[in-house]
Amino acid sequence: MEKKNIDWGSLGFGYVKTDKRYVMNFKNGAWDEGGLIEDDMVTISECAGVLQYAQTAFEGLKAYTTEDGRTVTFRPDLNAERLDQSCRRLEMPVLPEGTFLKAVDEVVKANWAYVPPYGSGATLYIRPYMFGSSPVIGVKPAEEYQFRMFATPVGPYFKGGAKPITIKVSDFDRAAPKGTGHIKGGLNYAMSLHAIVTAHNEGFDENMYLDAATRTKVEETGGANFLFVTKDGKVVTPQSDTILPSITRRSLVYVAQHYLGLTVEERPVYFEEVKDFAECGLCGTAAVISPVGKVVDHGKEICFPSGMEKMGPVTQKLYETLTGIQMGRIEAPEGWIREIQ
Ligand SMILES: *Cc1c(COP(=O)(O)O)cnc(C)c1O
Repeated sequence: MEKKNIDWGSLGFGYVKTDKRYVMNFKNGAWDEGGLIEDDMVTISECAGVLQYAQTAFEGLKAYTTEDGRTVTFRPDLNAERLDQSCRRLEMPVLPEGTFLKAVDEVVKANWAYVPPYGSGATLYIRPYMFGSSPVIGVKPAEEYQFRMFATPVGPYFKGGAKPITIKVSDFDRAAPKGTGHIKGGLNYAMSLHAIVTAHNEGFDENMYLDAATRTKVEETGGANFLFVTKDGKVVTPQSDTILPSITRRSLVYVAQHYLGLTVEERPVYFEEVKDFAECGLCGTAAVISPVGKVVDHGKEICFPSGMEKMGPVTQKLYETLTGIQMGRIEAPEGWIREIQ
């Protein structure tokens, strides 16, 4: 098989239809066999639970071509575990981890021609998701569900270097205490759209959400966790029950401790402290780390010493080490890399 004739470097973060996707249906209390299909269209009841009451959860992970030409995924077992937690919170059926991992392997293998080559900066983004497919009008969980997984090649997140972004402290809240902030549900994104459009219209790249209860602590952005670096080189990342447990953030914490010998504090982070940090970054699968140069709180600017031209030195090291592990240039901790045979 040959790779597709795609200009990998100029791809954006958008949807490109690939050849095969995985589909599995839950009916009468059980999952069917599941398997790959070609049809990219979903046909469900006009009254499906997902359409009426947003009963849906998703995941996001990537496949990479390593320096020595292998095709790998990065910690997909953690995506399986997180989808399990999201499904339980949304009263959806759970999927065995083995089934999830097998679907990842099959989708990547079937779309191997779309896995961007090493060095292109592009990757294959994999989107697993589950939704209530049977009709629901009285408020209750659906009886039938569909699990799907497709893949789409995405371009290098930073074209021409990672330029630090400017974010604003949002006037909106992302997650309520005891709410759903810790799960990866479409519901958390639907309600963030107005906040992000508002931020963009005001000239900001992203929102910094504070904790809804006290509005004194840093939570996360709409789709990425925060990581800060203190002036004496410690890594600090917010700990909260209402943020999404980012796999990238958890991996960066490990890399900071075990590869770079840094001290890491996972604890509540007060907004008051932000002005004293040396570096700030946003962590997620899409970009690994996006550097933040400036935080604006209702006209009051906090400018990090790392500036608006490039990533701070510690952020840069974290970025290079984790992407090195993902691309096979640096030896990975046991169990982090799943090779697609
Ligand atoms: C997916 C997501 C992240 C990033 O998680 P990763 O596992 O690192 O991709 C962070 N915050 C929110 C709200 C998310 O949905």
